[in-house]
Amino acid sequence: MVSAPCNRLAHRFNRQAKPVDFISAFRDKWHMSAPSQTAHGSQTPPAIAAVIVAAGSGSRMQEAVPKQFLALCGKPVLCHSVDAFASHAAVVEIIIVGPADDFVRVRRALGTERMGDNRLRIVAGGATRQQSVRAGLAALASSRARLVSIHDAARPLVSHAVIDRLATAISGGVMAALPVLAVTDTLKSTESGRISGTIDRSNVWAAQTPQMFDLATIARLHEENNGTQPVTDDISLAEDAGLRIASIEGDRRLMKLTHEDDLAMLVALAGDCPAKGDRAMAEMMDMRVGNGFDVHRFADGPGPIMLAGISLPSQHGMLAHSDGDVGLHALCDAIFGALGDGDIGFHFPPSDARWKNADSAQFLRYAVERCGQHNAELRNLDLTIICEAPKITPHRDAMRARIAEISGLPISRIGVKATTSEGLGFTGRGEGIAAQATASLLFRSGE
Ligand code: MG
Repeated sequence: MVSAPCNRLAHRFNRQAKPVDFISAFRDKWHMSAPSQTAHGSQTPPAIAAVIVAAGSGSRMQEAVPKQFLALCGKPVLCHSVDAFASHAAVVEIIIVGPADDFVRVRRALGTERMGDNRLRIVAGGATRQQSVRAGLAALASSRARLVSIHDAARPLVSHAVIDRLATAISGGVMAALPVLAVTDTLKSTESGRISGTIDRSNVWAAQTPQMFDLATIARLHEENNGTQPVTDDISLAEDAGLRIASIEGDRRLMKLTHEDDLAMLVALAGDCPAKGDRAMAEMMDMRVGNGFDVHRFADGPGPIMLAGISLPSQHGMLAHSDGDVGLHALCDAIFGALGDGDIGFHFPPSDARWKNADSAQFLRYAVERCGQHNAELRNLDLTIICEAPKITPHRDAMRARIAEISGLPISRIGVKATTSEGLGFTGRGEGIAAQATASLLFRSGE
């Protein structure tokens, strides 16, 4: 398939980017460090602000952790871009556009030292990249920066050389600059799903970020556009406004982290990588474990009883205010324990008439909902039932399936085991049933 964005970019370059811009831009490749007269009439490099867009949910990688927070070479992906800009002498402000509902995670990823940099601020992103960039630019309304570099956090390997080439390219009436790479694959066009031709790739370029702009100009263009015309990159707004745009030679290391395999490629491109392949870095992981225990006494009358979410025939019923399901009660307490959020008696007091004969499935459903409210994800449940009778093993998989149904976990993440107490104690004497449980939770927020 032909890459539509590349095709459109080529079209726009043909229409608006003058050949001289390409020539001057690529000349910069060979004279990177030579000072140039800037658009602002000074030999001093203009002050640069950076807007780093890190508001995505990372759904394409189907990760519990969005890609900007994954570990790459010993630090979160987002921090690579932040460090590249923060260590550049001309950068005076860094705006990180983070997920509106997950600032705590951004702060945690950045760590205390980066958060202490007074050039750095976090602002809330919008539903689209365009809205997020607009929010980032709005935060620079009173900035002293003359240029702004707009960058996607998913391209972690930014170099000072690229930042310098972009800043140098914005001069002599050029108001925007971007890195581009030649397209090396042969490009085909299709019509009705069939190959219809070969595209001349000499005029086709792959666009990267960071893209750099005169700050006042791009802020105005974003405000004027206000999402009325969707664009996939910021240069498109400059194209549509008929501005002169320079391209500089891009960098293969600016590869975008899109698919899971890309992490290994980025590690290779990074070169000197202190923690090659370390995706589950300790600072990214916040696993917590809780345990629960419950006992109910048998009643004099006959069963059935509720146990681990299913109804079982039993010589004796259970004495309890609710349905007396010790299995589900122990699981609830394991979750509440990992959350540091009270216990089942706190959330569902036996003194409350509402819970008389209550179906304990609703207690477990509630405990799982509490995980979401604490920004935690339930990862597995493990239950041990201790009794002489009824026999549990024939019902084990039905119990696992029911717990999976209530909790929303895959059945592979649910364990149900049973033991007797060898005739010892109250369970050994057949006076009641005990259950103990473990829950593990992955916390996203670092709270
Ligand atoms: Mg109980």
